[in-house]
Amino acid sequence: MYRFEKPIYVTSPLLPSLENVEKRLRDIWSAHWLTNMGAQHKELENMLRVLLKVNQLSLFCNGTIALLAAGKALALSGEVLTTPFTFAATPHSLSWMGVTPVFCDIDPTTLNISPESIERAITPRTKGILAVHVFGTPCDVYSIEEIAKRHNLKVIYDGAHAFGLEVDGRGIGTFGDITMYSFHATKLFHTVEGGALACANPALKQLIDQLKNFAIKNEEEVFGVGINGKLNEVQAAIGLAVLDVMEYERKRRERISKIYREALSNIEGLDFINLPDNVTRKSLQYFPVLIRKGIARLDRNELHLALKDYNIAARKYFYPLCTAYDCYKQLPSAIPENIPNALKVSEESMTLPLYGTLTDDEAYNIADVIKYFLTK
Ligand SMILES: *Cc1c(COP(=O)(O)O)cnc(C)c1O
Repeated sequence: MYRFEKPIYVTSPLLPSLENVEKRLRDIWSAHWLTNMGAQHKELENMLRVLLKVNQLSLFCNGTIALLAAGKALALSGEVLTTPFTFAATPHSLSWMGVTPVFCDIDPTTLNISPESIERAITPRTKGILAVHVFGTPCDVYSIEEIAKRHNLKVIYDGAHAFGLEVDGRGIGTFGDITMYSFHATKLFHTVEGGALACANPALKQLIDQLKNFAIKNEEEVFGVGINGKLNEVQAAIGLAVLDVMEYERKRRERISKIYREALSNIEGLDFINLPDNVTRKSLQYFPVLIRKGIARLDRNELHLALKDYNIAARKYFYPLCTAYDCYKQLPSAIPENIPNALKVSEESMTLPLYGTLTDDEAYNIADVIKYFLTK
């Protein structure tokens, strides 16, 4: 066991081959077309639609703007149920579109919004559900679908952690009305900054495509309040080049996850998040663990600090909860009694370094350091 000389971060962006990027840049230069749905954009959109096994896909400049466009396309208003155990973008997108986020509790095994908690929070003001497939574990999509049908609610999935995830052979983006993907540099697949919305029918895609382009209908008509959510040609080209190295990246992440699982099994107070049996393809974006308070030798915060001393920068995802932010803590749904599981998990969860260029030796060493602190 040794201390790393340089910090090991929780992720490292996947870099495509420069030659490949350069070749695509030359194509862009000869086309003399830099943005507004050019050839690279078209190619990437088509490739991702097939890869993600979704019906319709629209590319965006980032995942947050994509969420805003999704809310606009579904005309969300009033209150939307969501989870506090997520990244800031999830509730912020609701607030930004003038919708009140109503926080629900999570299921302590999947860490995703729980169907029971959704049922309890529904009022006449509820217009939709914004659920997150946290760390690439799918939400209980069938229960959520059933509840949404019964109460006539729109469903948006924040699939920022769920690239390539499949449930019962279906792309995760085929569930709900719309699924958002983020292609930020820190995500598994990326376009430096970028994102996408998946949906089921061509009419909704057309509306989304218009909304991301200022709601311009044609040269003479603007039909509503749109936004600029377009992904440019240079970023689309980088995405296409990243796609070429994705399979190798997935193999490496699979291997590192296996090393962690084997080396960290049977440690008192350290639990993994197990994917449900109906997951037919994993996302491999994160490696989360739960460090059980009062059971593990160190609590999550102590272990986090101890790892830092060894230059291992694990992350306390998601701490603090969104319900602790200044802008949300006064909401009635933010009270601790409403979200006990989320509060507990946010004190116990941590994600370990996971990226393709992490070597086997480094992964073994990270596991050894964790084992040392939790068992010595
Ligand atoms: C990264 C992320 C987003 C936002 O994506 P951007 O592309 O950075 O705007 C939204 N939700 C979750 C859960 C994320 O992790």
